[in-house]
Amino acid sequence: MSEKPTIEVYKKNIEDGNFKAYKCVGCGCIIAPPSGTCYGCGGTKMEWAKVSGKGNLVSFTVIHIAPDEFQEETPYYVAIVELEEGTRVSARLLGVDPLKPKEVKLGIPLKLDYEKGKSGHTYLAFRPA
Ligand SMILES: [Zn+2]
Repeated sequence: MSEKPTIEVYKKNIEDGNFKAYKCVGCGCIIAPPSGTCYGCGGTKMEWAKVSGKGNLVSFTVIHIAPDEFQEETPYYVAIVELEEGTRVSARLLGVDPLKPKEVKLGIPLKLDYEKGKSGHTYLAFRPA
């Protein structure tokens, strides 16, 4: 794809189950979530980049009290995932029991997935690889 990446398309790609990150044209740095400026070189020219979908778990929390739109989905995990490409995204964490967060180990390998929420939205998600 050659069109300039936008946050709207970034979100639509997730809804479509086709997650892509930004890639800085200047230095090749992979960026997600979208930013207008490269974290690496400060450049502003971006293109789409496919990612491997591999990452590992950096941090997580369990949401029990959510905004109305998501309340039916509680409890659920929100995790910080470091992608193999070196950038960090927040995503739902699937495949682990939200009532047993002490059993979840930081650093575990994860793979990209998606979750269709009761709100009707599809979320970026990861599950243990
Ligand atoms: Zn850059």
